[in-house]
Amino acid sequence: MTGAPPADVDLVRPTLYTLLAPVSNVLDALTFLSRERAIAFLVTWVAALALWGLLRRGSRRRRLVAAALAPLAVIVLGAGAVLLPRPVPRLVAADSTLTVIDYHAHTALSHDGRRGWTLADLAAWHAAQGFGASYVTDHNLVFNGGVDTLIRLLPGVEWSVYDQHIVALGNVAPIERGVYGRDTRAMLGLFAELHRQGAIGLASLSEYWRQHWGDLDGFVAAGADGFEIVNCAPRGLSFPAAARARVLRLAEAHDLLVVGASDNHGWGKVTCVWNLSSPSAHGYRSNRVIARPIALAQGEWQPWTAAYTQPWLMLAGLSWSERSSWLTWILVILIYRAVPRREGDPPGIGILARSLSLKILRLRRPPPPSPASTD
Ligand SMILES: [Zn+2]
Repeated sequence: MTGAPPADVDLVRPTLYTLLAPVSNVLDALTFLSRERAIAFLVTWVAALALWGLLRRGSRRRRLVAAALAPLAVIVLGAGAVLLPRPVPRLVAADSTLTVIDYHAHTALSHDGRRGWTLADLAAWHAAQGFGASYVTDHNLVFNGGVDTLIRLLPGVEWSVYDQHIVALGNVAPIERGVYGRDTRAMLGLFAELHRQGAIGLASLSEYWRQHWGDLDGFVAAGADGFEIVNCAPRGLSFPAAARARVLRLAEAHDLLVVGASDNHGWGKVTCVWNLSSPSAHGYRSNRVIARPIALAQGEWQPWTAAYTQPWLMLAGLSWSERSSWLTWILVILIYRAVPRREGDPPGIGILARSLSLKILRLRRPPPPSPASTD
């Protein structure tokens, strides 16, 4: 598994996504912040924008208004990342025998799922991003499948047991959860129970990393079928690369599954990870994890650097078409700001159109009597 998309898969960006690349990329980058980095990002930008507002030229009143309103931009962008309908990138695999699949996603039936987030919503969210199938893994509530939607919805559940979430996939059945809630030993017994049911069990992030990091050999001995190595939930995104490498070595040595999980709860429009599942392979080789590089990098940078490392990671990951889009938007805005306005002109698209034609025709009006201001 690497950050860059391998040669046999393609991340297809819709035309509108690329045309609006500055908006698309910023909203994606805000979606892929780990929990600690999201807090640091918010605090730093709110403080910086408030300071910028205070230090502007103009009356005291104007500066105070700017200091109060500017930080709102960060909040509005954050809300946009979570809620705004928009075009999203789609993963396409060259090999059609592979299934693009998600192993871990929630509906409104989970206590922390978005209200009104139905199976149809979950399926549409996945279909738009290239998934052909997804397990439905609500918290402690068995999904038995058999629902007709845009993609195949597969039976599963996410069991909360002792300091650990275990994603059960396949022939899942209700369990007596208390039995597995006593201690680590009791929790590990769930894997044998899942096998009795004809299901498999994967250790979910971030719990096994934060609460059971010393018990990984115990997971293997107890029959864990695999580990999540990428999880797009804000807590899961903190998982560092060195820890991921250790789990990959363990899984390879014991031929266990490694998977990526959107862990979507109905918020946010984009996944940070896809899986390519191969029907002809078993264990470690049966699944390939394809993740967005900016998501993999979350565990590599100190949270307090998020205000500048997140924009940097976003810009470093742009495709050529996205770069062209950014440059075009920057040029348009620079031209708009460079052309002096007539006295009393309201700002707006009319100025933009005239400024563009002025630039092209080189028809410069005489300079206005008073110093021009673009404020
Ligand atoms: Zn979950």
